[in-house]
Amino acid sequence: MTEMLHIVCPACQAKNRVPDNRLAANPSCGACKAPLFPAAPFELDEAKLNKHLKGDDIPLLVDFWAPWCGPCRMMAPMFAQAAGEMSPQLRFAKLDTEQHQTVGNRFQIRGIPLIILFDKGQEVARQAGAMDARGIVAWVRQNLKR
Ligand code: ZN
Repeated sequence: MTEMLHIVCPACQAKNRVPDNRLAANPSCGACKAPLFPAAPFELDEAKLNKHLKGDDIPLLVDFWAPWCGPCRMMAPMFAQAAGEMSPQLRFAKLDTEQHQTVGNRFQIRGIPLIILFDKGQEVARQAGAMDARGIVAWVRQNLKR
């Protein structure tokens, strides 16, 4: 049986309803036509993060990073590669902790790069330190209970 999933658009944050059997068919947003599962991880600020946590049925992995952080920049292509492997079962996003410092305080982030896995709006697991694509994928599979 098909299940209708709520997917928040990464471009305009409109809430879309997509049948689960169409997730892999590159669905686009009903409001702005942007792809709901873009090829690269999408950028979030705190307001957008809140909307994704509240309204999206797909688990979300967020890379908390900053432009001054060398290991973060090294990890970026690895994170993008993992996104290519795991989308659309998982959504991949990035959040710049220098631009959006209140988020860092809210999640008590002490060191970056840090990835946090969210499911149903709740933090499931977090991991600090640079990881390669294979490490990211393995870590997610280990921590995502579905
Ligand atoms: Zn949209």
